[in-house]
Amino acid sequence: MKIIMLGAPGAGKGTQAKRIAAKYGIPHISTGDILRANVKGDTELGKKAKTFMDQGLLVPDELVIDMLMDRIGQDDCKNGYVLDGFPRTIPQAESLDAALAKAGEKMDMAIDVDVPDENIITRMGGRRACVNCGATYHVVFNPTKTEGICDACGEKLILRDDDKPETVQKRLNVYHEQTQPLIAYYSKAGILKSVDGTMEMDRVFDAIVRIIGE
Ligand code: ADP
Ligand code: ADP
Ligand code: ZN
Repeated sequence: MKIIMLGAPGAGKGTQAKRIAAKYGIPHISTGDILRANVKGDTELGKKAKTFMDQGLLVPDELVIDMLMDRIGQDDCKNGYVLDGFPRTIPQAESLDAALAKAGEKMDMAIDVDVPDENIITRMGGRRACVNCGATYHVVFNPTKTEGICDACGEKLILRDDDKPETVQKRLNVYHEQTQPLIAYYSKAGILKSVDGTMEMDRVFDAIVRIIGE
């Protein structure tokens, strides 16, 4: 099963994608996580990507597309995957479709996690991330057992640089301009599903399971 998560930054794509991955036994592929790992490791890709990410802008398509194609070509992707944060532009979606079509495959569904901009701002301010294992928390909605420490691996949590309020507003603008058109793109392709992302996390996941099937 091949699933795409759509939605604004902070809508809960990552939170839900991790749960989907665990329930259905497919890898969770987050282009944001892969890029942050490259920035942390100071790779060539990381150096190029960092300036864009810090400004709340998208990393250029050609860099991200190659990186994603590499990842979905790996062995653990044979039975499908859940994509979180890709595609984010129409050219990325077209490249993905073209690559899959070549292999006689296609995406099964694109799930849009719908959350209005007002809710996003509060969510991002409270988001805490573990750069070591990729876990995500929220100071109010999903707190850790010990403040500032990852429940999963014990590392210190960070407030992402791009989660500061000024940058969040910019990322929302980028989302509306470049990423939101994908909703129409997948609707036209007949694979769009929508869930109300303002509900609490467990309810959002229930709605997603009803869409995918038990
Ligand atoms: P969020 O989960 O908050 O939406 P991500 O972790 O997915 O944020 O992405 C963080 C940043 O990484 C983005 O603001 C962008 O700079 C870059 N990025 C991630 N995925 C892509 C992509 N598919 N295309 C271009 N840039 C991307
Ligand atoms: P995205 O991957 O779309 O950027 P995340 O999954 O990282 O979003 O969620 C953004 C923040 O909001 C995190 O701090 C997360 O814990 C929190 N969050 C996610 N889903 C919900 C929800 N349904 N209700 C309240 N907070 C949520
Ligand atoms: Zn961790």
